[in-house]
Amino acid sequence: MGQKPIGILGGTFDPIHYGHLRLAEEMLELAGLQHIRFIPTGNPPHRDTPKVSAAHRSAMVQLAIADQPAFVLDEREVRRTTKCYTVDTLRELRTEMGETQPLCLLMGGDAFLQLHTWHEWEQILDLAHIVVGYRPGFTLEKRIHTATKELRQQYQQRLCTVDYLSQQAAGGIAELAIPKLEISATLIRSRVAEKRTIRYLLPASVADYIYQHNLYTPC
Ligand code: ATP
Repeated sequence: MGQKPIGILGGTFDPIHYGHLRLAEEMLELAGLQHIRFIPTGNPPHRDTPKVSAAHRSAMVQLAIADQPAFVLDEREVRRTTKCYTVDTLRELRTEMGETQPLCLLMGGDAFLQLHTWHEWEQILDLAHIVVGYRPGFTLEKRIHTATKELRQQYQQRLCTVDYLSQQAAGGIAELAIPKLEISATLIRSRVAEKRTIRYLLPASVADYIYQHNLYTPC
């Protein structure tokens, strides 16, 4: 018996919504994770600048996960003043958690197919497992031909079962069928800007926070 893996869910969370929370909840259960660390990005290197400050995005994550003890807010990227990459965060976590603790980087299928664009992406695979959520019927196997040759090779060599995630500290790629909610932060931001309802797309506490702080409204 190995150690229960720790899940890592990075994102801009601009704002966090039920798509993220359901992904995390399903992965917690299906991959038998000990807990999941939600890590909001500070200044994401490969994305557009977030629309609101890291402090607001972090506060919204804290509100959203308050009633799930297995979800933890990890603010290490928000606190960094320099550009931060996932590979650096994983190196830090590996040092803190030790060489034998399984770590699982969680992501959606779309994010995985872009992995080759991430800084030092091949090192990421040596520091953690990757657990990819796919919509039932849309397996990675069916879509992997759209990835680069290098990513395809890594996928083929590292594809593993859920059991492997607790037997080794890193290195596997596992896939889990998870119904995807058609919710995105982009959708929520544009609905707020248009003064349309966002109820039931995200926790009420997060919606209240958005309105209290006038977030996502055009200046
Ligand atoms: P944006 O609309 O601003 O691009 P987003 O809603 O996609 O944002 P991110 O913070 O970029 O949110 O996402 C973080 C992680 O959550 C990524 O791995 C992404 O694949 C996953 N994710 C986002 N939305 C969903 C969803 N509806 N269902 C499952 N996973 C999701």
